[in-house]
Amino acid sequence: MTDTICVRCGAVTPPHDVVSVASPDGAFRLLCSRCFNTGMAHLADVHTFEHPEFTPVCLPDADGVVHEFHFRSLLFGDQLSLDAFELASGGEDCAGFHFQLLGDPQSDPFELLGVLVQKVKRALAVRHVVERSGHLEVAGTTVRGRIEWDGSENGRLPCVVIDGRRIDWTDFGAMLMAFEGWQFRIELVDPSDEA
Ligand SMILES: [Zn+2]
Repeated sequence: MTDTICVRCGAVTPPHDVVSVASPDGAFRLLCSRCFNTGMAHLADVHTFEHPEFTPVCLPDADGVVHEFHFRSLLFGDQLSLDAFELASGGEDCAGFHFQLLGDPQSDPFELLGVLVQKVKRALAVRHVVERSGHLEVAGTTVRGRIEWDGSENGRLPCVVIDGRRIDWTDFGAMLMAFEGWQFRIELVDPSDEA
């Protein structure tokens, strides 16, 4: 994906900072997150809102591998959504860690950032899959991850992202065969909650 020009301010904007907004005539306009938030603050009467800009933060995972997190804040009326995510590499759009926090738009954005970074650190400290002789295995008996769109399956089957790694549904199934005969429990958790 390439950079986009914001239709309101003309800023050259990377894909992860672009918001597609429907106009009353049904057409979609591409805005940078700053212009989206400024418009939303006006609509939602959040006069004190200032669009926060956060610089990327590097955080190590449980194996000491450093991950670079970018941030995006979007105002949705009475809630401010703050996302921390890794940029896609190697054409794997859905891979990488991605965390979200919902907060009060009137609160200090840097306080929200602090809470989100703590959430990221807690998640990075836990390993759910390990590589043994070239194969991924479930490390313990709990797996946390994210359900994502798999383009090669045209959305018929998901792929999952565990420890920031994209894993095909069939490969995930193969990993579970180590637990043949075991029971399992699936709990679906909102992106902004802690899994
Ligand atoms: Zn803009």
